[in-house]
Amino acid sequence: MASIKPSTHLADVRYEIRGALTRRARELEAAGHDIIKLNIGNPGRYGFETPPHLREAIAGHLRDSEAYGHEQGLEAARETIAAQQRARGARHVDVERVFIGNGVSELIDLSLRALLQPGDEVLLPSPDYPLWSAATILNGGKPRYYRCLAENGHVPDADEIEALVTPRTRALVLINPNNPTGAVYPRALLERIVAVAARHNLLLLADEIYDEILYDGVAFQPLAEVAGELPCVSFGGLSKVHRACGYRVGWLSLSGNHARSADYRDALQLLAALRLCANVTAQWAVIPALQDAPTITTLTAPGGRLHEARKAVLDGVAASAYLDVVSPAGALYAFPRVRADAIPAFDDNAFALRLLEEESVLVVPGSSFNVPASRHLRLTLLPQPAQLREVFARIEQVLMRMAAE
Ligand code: PLP
Repeated sequence: MASIKPSTHLADVRYEIRGALTRRARELEAAGHDIIKLNIGNPGRYGFETPPHLREAIAGHLRDSEAYGHEQGLEAARETIAAQQRARGARHVDVERVFIGNGVSELIDLSLRALLQPGDEVLLPSPDYPLWSAATILNGGKPRYYRCLAENGHVPDADEIEALVTPRTRALVLINPNNPTGAVYPRALLERIVAVAARHNLLLLADEIYDEILYDGVAFQPLAEVAGELPCVSFGGLSKVHRACGYRVGWLSLSGNHARSADYRDALQLLAALRLCANVTAQWAVIPALQDAPTITTLTAPGGRLHEARKAVLDGVAASAYLDVVSPAGALYAFPRVRADAIPAFDDNAFALRLLEEESVLVVPGSSFNVPASRHLRLTLLPQPAQLREVFARIEQVLMRMAAE
């Protein structure tokens, strides 16, 4: 019998964070190995809890969650999101211009599907969060990558971004605070990027899902405030800041001049209606999540678990004969690099496989984030600091063996 052929649209689509290495890790676990997994930013898997009052808000509204809801999400939750965005300086955000989805993941796809014609180009960071590339390709678009190099603190260059613009460019994606690098962008850079978008009529797409996860007193600047009247789509959610990945709740808000983005807003609404609505139950958690002060700050402040985990990673890199790293200023990851002078011929995929097979540690190779010939690896800061210290001892063992070969 003929085999069932999958769509050729998937030919260039990758998501290695849950890819072949993860499948191999599952095989090793099934065979009795104890694998330390550092591949997914999933707080609940590392002992973090969703704040109890979010859980209680859901439990108290189970009876109200049995019918389909509005395609854009619960009105009270959208009002809370709109108020948060306006308080941050985003212009003209109201309930009509907020969409709640099953995680930011669903909305990344929706935002690009509502925008792109075949062959349109989207400016994406390299490294990127790979769903952005995947969703661009699946919706007929072409990724064009601007670099966020370690040499520049993983901060992009606005001139380089502008040089990539062609008549086909439609949108500019910014991930801030950044996954995988942990970079948090200064306001001056955002101003230059907004100017590029304004000159070339690009839609700004700001993935700000890590907006409250910040270290060492660094400040987060929302892009929408800088964008002013220029249309900007800002993304946020419960998964990271509120440690509720499994609830699958994310949102987008559309700021700036209404007239310029009215047709786009209507396209988003049509696509949202086609999938009826997001999970209603979990949306009740949005209201207390945004109305109360975020509790993540106790974890990122000195003495807090994420702060100490980040310190364990920075200490591990400092003690290494092979690694360097740009200290992450935000988000849940570090993106260390194997120095060219230490191991000239380094293959990040081969390294990650050896680290898994020889030392039972699962990380994500840097090239999984759409960086050619990457010398990086990404690991999450979510494990206990003591476990991260153990991980760096094991990484050093593998690097020592590779350097000696
Ligand atoms: N955007 C970024 C930058 C992410 O790192 C993630 C998840 O890791 C997402 C979006 C998707 O988040 P969710 O679908 O859980 O809201």
